Amino acid sequence: MLFRYFRYDPIHCGFIVDRKAPKEARRSTLRFLALSIGMGLVLFGIYALFLPEYDEVVLQEYNTVAKASWTELKNEIRELDDRITMLEREDDDHYRVLLNMEKLPASIRRGGSGGRTESDWTNQSDLPIIKRGYQDVKVLWNRVRMGNQSYVELKDKIEEKEGMLASRPALQPLDNRQITRFHGLYGMRMHPVYRDWRFHHGLDLTARPGTPVYATGEGLVTVAKYSGGYGQVVFVNHGYGFETRYAHLSKIKVAEGQKVKRGELLGLVGNTGTSTGPHLHYEVLFKDEWVNPIHFMYRDLSQSDFNEIIREAKK
Ligand SMILES: [Zn+2]
Repeated sequence: MLFRYFRYDPIHCGFIVDRKAPKEARRSTLRFLALSIGMGLVLFGIYALFLPEYDEVVLQEYNTVAKASWTELKNEIRELDDRITMLEREDDDHYRVLLNMEKLPASIRRGGSGGRTESDWTNQSDLPIIKRGYQDVKVLWNRVRMGNQSYVELKDKIEEKEGMLASRPALQPLDNRQITRFHGLYGMRMHPVYRDWRFHHGLDLTARPGTPVYATGEGLVTVAKYSGGYGQVVFVNHGYGFETRYAHLSKIKVAEGQKVKRGELLGLVGNTGTSTGPHLHYEVLFKDEWVNPIHFMYRDLSQSDFNEIIREAKK
């Protein structure tokens, strides 16, 4: 025996060998060990049951960050959506109304084609929520693209209107101060030279020879020559179905094929062709039919506005 246990014997007043002690010690040691192992197992069980794995903790954190980013992205998409809606309303309710154009239906704005294909978007992820996100962005893309197309359409329409307004005959071909007599007769009349009843297709503005004759709208000079009864004459094709003719000129100041602006000098008043005195014979045609030029003269235009148009045309 390696270890011996002693106890105090009060009867003999000394230490004697205790034979029961080793057994008692072994028993208590074993009890302690069993209890410790048992406690350890219980604690491990609790840990395994209630505490998450390391990977799980990382994933949870990642998930929280991803959720926050997704929410932020969704808010951005919503804000973009609001702004595009605002632009669409302005386009439909303001510009398209002003230019007398049809509104663009929402189905066309949202469902335009082109750009990235369906598979480009949907292959990005298998997650339904991500797919929905891409779908939302795709619709926004279509709306932006349709908005751009609409603006191009508006721009073309404005240019067309501007061109039409600039081209339409809308001026008196002579300065009011230089007209000595305004013959407002358009229609049947006794011809001053032939002495028979004929239709007078224009208006006659009497002025001194050499008075400037101006183009009444933007256009192209198609005729600039001596032509029978018209004498020296200029024809201007304004497009949009309009043509004007300026007859009996003493001098022509433009050439055939030349582009002219409203208020640009075409020639000078004269007495050439079938004419009984210096005057300008002015005609307006719409789709090859004569119309009364009085409706295209804007006679209520102020002198200063008239002067401004002539000044602008010289630039
Ligand atoms: Zn005439």
